[in-house]
Amino acid sequence: MPTKVIAAAPADEPGAAWLTHTNPLAPVAARHCAGHIHDLADLLGGIACEDAWAKALTADLLVALEFDLPLILEADPTYIDEVAVARAMRGEDLELTELERAEVRRRLAEVRTHRNRVRFTCSRAAAARREAAR
Ligand SMILES: [Zn+2]
Repeated sequence: MPTKVIAAAPADEPGAAWLTHTNPLAPVAARHCAGHIHDLADLLGGIACEDAWAKALTADLLVALEFDLPLILEADPTYIDEVAVARAMRGEDLELTELERAEVRRRLAEVRTHRNRVRFTCSRAAAARREAAR
């Protein structure tokens, strides 16, 4: 496996222009680099070091090749990651889009409404039993 897929280039050179915070792999590269110690000048795009970017880009490429996915994807602004929403509802601290956060709030509100409805129904049933016992 290639270990250096990115040509060494300072962040201010054109070769690194696409390795910025707008790159969808920026959070992945940043996580890979989180345990490293670098000077800020060593971070491509101010995000991650060359090795961390290479690791993120290589993994992305390998997944795309393995599953026969196109290498360039247009992000769907209306996409909601159902797995991330479910994990967030269980209390995991995740990075979510604004749409996903709204979906989590909507679903949690549904759960609260359902629980209140069940609690109220149970209370009425219990009240009816108490009334019948008199
Ligand atoms: Zn690093």
